Amino acid sequence: MHLRKRVMVTGGAGFLGSHLCERLLNEGCDVLCVDNFYTGTKRNIIHLMENPYFELHRHDVTFPMFVEVDEIYNLACPASPIHYQSDPVQTTKVNVNGSINMLGLAKRLKAKIMQASTSEVYGDPKIHPQPETYHGNVNCIGIRSCYDEGKRCAETLFFDYFRQHKLKIKVARIFNTYGPNMHPNDGRVVSNFIIQALKSDAITVYGDGSQTRSFCYVDDLIEGFIRIMATPDEITGPINLGNPVEFTILELANAIIELTGSKSEIIFKDLPSDDPVRRQPDIGLAKSILKWEPKKPLKEGLIPTIAYFEKMVDI
Ligand code: NAD
Ligand code: UDP
Repeated sequence: MHLRKRVMVTGGAGFLGSHLCERLLNEGCDVLCVDNFYTGTKRNIIHLMENPYFELHRHDVTFPMFVEVDEIYNLACPASPIHYQSDPVQTTKVNVNGSINMLGLAKRLKAKIMQASTSEVYGDPKIHPQPETYHGNVNCIGIRSCYDEGKRCAETLFFDYFRQHKLKIKVARIFNTYGPNMHPNDGRVVSNFIIQALKSDAITVYGDGSQTRSFCYVDDLIEGFIRIMATPDEITGPINLGNPVEFTILELANAIIELTGSKSEIIFKDLPSDDPVRRQPDIGLAKSILKWEPKKPLKEGLIPTIAYFEKMVDI
């Protein structure tokens, strides 16, 4: 008999994982953080180490693991294009082999398991905003494919385990999320622009900056994770989680310049291949099923994010 729910978070030392571990501890769970520190850091979870209900296990999820838990959040996977493209074979492995291992574990334990999927399953979308019913427009041989197709295959595995083995699954399709604990060398747009602005370096807009993204503050997203995990067993998702307010990348650059009071100039660089032109979640399902929608507008979320990077950066 376990008084506390035992929850495992793979990728728990990463950006989202560290916030999730903290939230679960605050909810009274016994948390097992599993990470191989590929993009995550101990710095993100060091403040949790003293908590007797927090346990850290260094492990690569592409290898099987044997533990006893009640719920699994499967977040292990580098999320930034620079990092997931630096070892693309490993990126496919973590999504496919890693998911098989975590699903196998969940099957043995009869544990509920949530997959951190992504808006990348929609590729460069032809439908706007993207509902969960849209099957996507994904290149299977491009430089983003290891991540996009890896995540798509992971979703396939989750639904086959659901149909074949009656596993309790939840699939969350996460749209661009930002906040404290992002790695300073993460390479994603919010961290790049804030660091460039704080250092008075040029802000590197790829392409003409007219491509769009919809940015969700991390606390809002974690609330969505908790709510999706708590849904009845017949609810599997996929459910989009993200902030539906869309910005161009140039608008984001200008907002960060304004909030940091930076003197940085904006420079334009080549657009990476397969870079999606538009991205905005349709969150109708999350609103109706989870009674969830993001609360923090972009500028409000950028303030604590900038404060976090100010402490990290030697200006
Ligand atoms: P992150 O890179 O900060 O965290 C990923 C974590 O997984 C890191 O701690 C890393 O060390 C760990 N990891 C990588 N490979 C591993 C392996 N083989 N075994 C064990 N641990 C491993 O990224 P994040 O932004 O926190 O993303 C977390 C999850 O959410 C990822 O699955 C990502 O695809 C998904 N996601 C994130 C976003 C976003 O905007 N942040 C958007 C869509 C999907
Ligand atoms: N981007 C940019 N400058 C940067 C980093 C990214 O203009 O220094 C652009 C990138 O080309 C993309 C958008 O910002 O159009 C979001 O990129 P990110 O890597 O954050 O995530 P993505 O949504 O592409 O996975």
